[in-house]
This record gives sequence, structure tokens and C-alpha cells, in this order.
Amino acid sequence: MNKIVSTQRAYFNTHETKEIKFRLKQLTKLDSFLKSNEKLLYEAIYKDFKKSEFDTFVSELALLYHDIKDAKRNLKKWARVKRVGTNMLNFPAKSYIIPEPLGVCLVIGAWNYPYQLTLAPVIAAIAAGNTVIIKPSEMAAHTSAVMAKLINENFNPNYLKVVEGGIPETTELLNQKFDKIFFTGSPQVGKTVYQAAAKHLTPVTLELGGKSPAFITEDCNLKMTVKRLVWAKFLNAGQTCIAPDYVFVYKNIENEFLNLLKSEIEKEQFSIENENYTQIINDRNLNRLSNLISKEKICYGGIISTSERTIEPTVLQNITFDDKVMQEEIFGPILPVISYENLEDAIQQVNEHPKPLACYVFTNNMTEKNKILKEISFGGGAINDGVMHIVNSKLPFGGVGNSGMGSYHGEAGFRAFTHYKSILEKSNLIELSLKYYPHSKGKLNWIKRFMGL
Ligand code: NAD
Repeated sequence: MNKIVSTQRAYFNTHETKEIKFRLKQLTKLDSFLKSNEKLLYEAIYKDFKKSEFDTFVSELALLYHDIKDAKRNLKKWARVKRVGTNMLNFPAKSYIIPEPLGVCLVIGAWNYPYQLTLAPVIAAIAAGNTVIIKPSEMAAHTSAVMAKLINENFNPNYLKVVEGGIPETTELLNQKFDKIFFTGSPQVGKTVYQAAAKHLTPVTLELGGKSPAFITEDCNLKMTVKRLVWAKFLNAGQTCIAPDYVFVYKNIENEFLNLLKSEIEKEQFSIENENYTQIINDRNLNRLSNLISKEKICYGGIISTSERTIEPTVLQNITFDDKVMQEEIFGPILPVISYENLEDAIQQVNEHPKPLACYVFTNNMTEKNKILKEISFGGGAINDGVMHIVNSKLPFGGVGNSGMGSYHGEAGFRAFTHYKSILEKSNLIELSLKYYPHSKGKLNWIKRFMGL
């Protein structure tokens, strides 16, 4: 690990990766390798958790292709030296900001959208002019292997290198000194990463998880709400960091909501029989999830196939924060429904727990929408939709508090891997004597005037 990092550092110090032309070339190369190897990518992800080609394209590859296109289109603008104004006290001078790459970066990915979550930060790091060591999640072993194959066989390892492995390998990597660590995963492991980074004062972006609520208020468009909610929740069998974890539904519309929910789940064919229904990643998670289902609270679903490693979309009713399913992030196809009468109380319950990664509000009521947006702190979200904010690369994506720190996508991704170097360039034509001896009251008054104080 030490050797990989030091050879990358030596290569970074040649300054080649800083050239805009070089960055554009690498982005084009990555794009074409992904496109020409789509078949391998589809095969690997199907072996890991039977994710369909349709879902893989829509929720992983399309986002990567878009990120590459976006970065190539905007790179010159993002990387441009930016002139800013100069204050009177520094007259005569000019001031500007130089975006510079941070250096040798470590990207640690999660398994649930293995291509997107591992490679989107890499695209941002390339755009910003860095070298990258990439550690995909070992839990999706086939996608990890295919990323290692494609990148390690086609890119200079001094520039991009995939290191496969689990906890021992990641721990060894984390002992090295990086210039940036970008981690996607659980808040628990996020803390380990943050501690390791602190030893070297390495900046981090932590993309973590949490329990993301969805509010369904009395005057929402219920049919549309249910349609969008069902897709957002059960896509990838609920193994989505920004999936609505649980629902608060206004008491008077709860029955109608539950009825519509059942028929929409059936219509969308999120079912064990559907061969395109994504598997749970492994037996450990299947067990964990099955323990979260309290049989007496099942309103829909509850069927588990251990041989197929699937769980039917399951809706739980009459849920309170005391239930087992409310004690941890679900990360699977189980939807607890809590009915509420008083929005104030519902908001308070959310605020008594760690800050969520996402929050969704299905409503036509401006006052209630604004109240939720103002009173709950969360990473990002959507009004009258779920998950789809991730698709807009103009929206910085990231958590807050327990759900993470920092953000990426689009220019935010470029910024995550960039240091903004501020320069004051002084003219030698004249020099004001204000700061020099002998000091006087008059000089102090001028300084105050120049500083607008
Ligand atoms: P995880 O934290 O178990 O693993 C993430 C990465 O950390 C993997 O590459 C793994 O090899 C490594 N790792 C695991 N244990 C480690 C340890 N002790 N020391 C060092 N490295 C270790 O997370 P996961 O199971 O892959 O993903 C699920 C979690 O990730 C959920 O909480 C989910 O919400 C979150 N997540 C967040 C986002 C986001 O964008 N914010 C996206 C996907 C997943």
C-alpha cells in the first residue's frame, strides 16, 4: 500500500495530471472503457445481486456517463483562475483564486450502487487533476473485480489504481497519508475513516446514511405520491442510501394510502417472482432484515425467500419509534408507516434522532412544506418525489451531521477534490506607508477608513 501511494505521489509531483488536456483525455478514456465493456459490467452486477440491465443502466451507468459529459463540458470553467476584487488597503494589487488538485486521493466505495458510488467520485477527482486509489466494496465481489480489471489493465497505476479487499486492506490503506479521502458507507465506518484521516490531517468527504423520512400530508396528490414513493422505496430492493426509510402519513388518509400502496407495489411488479427484482446483497443482511419484520404489524408482504435471497416489498403498519424497525437504518424493502395527526409532533420525533441523509415531503400545502424544510436539518431531498434529486448534478449531494459531511456531483464534486489557492499579487509601483513605523493616530484613522470601519 505504501508503495502504491508513494509512486502515485511521485507521479502527481510531475504535474502531468494538472493539465486540462490530460484530464479531458482521461475522462474520455474512462467513458469509452465503460461503454465498450457494458456487457461485463452487467454480468458482474447480476452475479452480485441480480440487478437487471435496465436498473443498472438507469441508476448507475447513466449517472456516470452524465457526470463525465458534465465534467468535460464544464472543466475549463471550473478550473479557471478566478479574479476577485482587491480591498483598498492592498492597493495597488490584483487578487485571484487558483483551483489546484489536492494530490493523491483515496476513494472508498459502497456496494449498493457499486459502479456509481465508486466511480462518480473518481470522475470528480480526475476532473480536478488528482491521482486516485480506488477501494470498491468487497461485499459486491464481482463488480469490485470487474472495476479492478478495467481500470488496472487500462490506466497507469501511478495515476488510477484499484485495490480490492475488505477491512484488513482498507485499514492498511487508511494508515497511509492521503491528500483527500472520499468515503461512502455507514456512519459507523465513517467514524473509523475520519479518525484515520485525522492522524494525517487529511480532508474527508463522508457520504453516510441514516433514516430518511417521507411526509405525506392530508392535501397531497395521493395517487402520484404513492406511485413515486413505491418506486423510490423498492428500487434496488430498498438498498438505496436515500430511499425513504419510513413514512409519516396523515391519519385521515392512512387507509386510502395503504390501499393504493398495495396496488401500486403489485402494478410495478416489485415481487419475488419477478426475475428483475433485486436480491438482498448477502445472507447476513437478509437475516438482519427479516429480524426487523414484526409479523403482527405486516400490512403487506412479509414473504422471504432464503434460497433466492429476496424479500417481498413489506409494509408495516401501526409503527412507533419504539419498534425494532425504527432503531436502525433499514436499507431493504421494508416500509414502516407511522400515522400522525400533529405535524409539530412528527417533526419533533425526527429531530430527536440523528440528522437524516434525505427527507421527502408529499404535499400541496406550502405552509407545511416550508415548516418541514425549515425545522428539519437533513442532507437533501425532494418535494413531491423521492430519490430523484440525485439525478440533478447541479444539486450538491451529501449529508449533514450523522449522515455525512461535504458533498459532490457536478461542480460540487470538482470542489470536493480541489484546493482553492488565494493569491494577492502586489504591484511594485507604490507602497502606502500606513502599516510602517512610526505609527500615528492619523495613520490609524486612514487604515480604519480604508477598511470601511
Ligand atoms: P460499510 O460502511 O459497511 O462499508 C463501506 C466501505 O467501507 C466498504 O468499502 C468496506 O470495505 C469498508 N469498510 C467496512 N468496514 C470497515 C472497517 N472496519 N474499516 C475500514 N473500512 C471498512 O457500508 P456498506 O454496507 O457498504 O453500505 C451501507 C451504508 O452506506 C448505509 O448506511 C448507507 O446509507 C450508506 N450509503 C451512503 C451513501 C451516500 O451516498 N451517502 C451511498 C450508499 C450507501
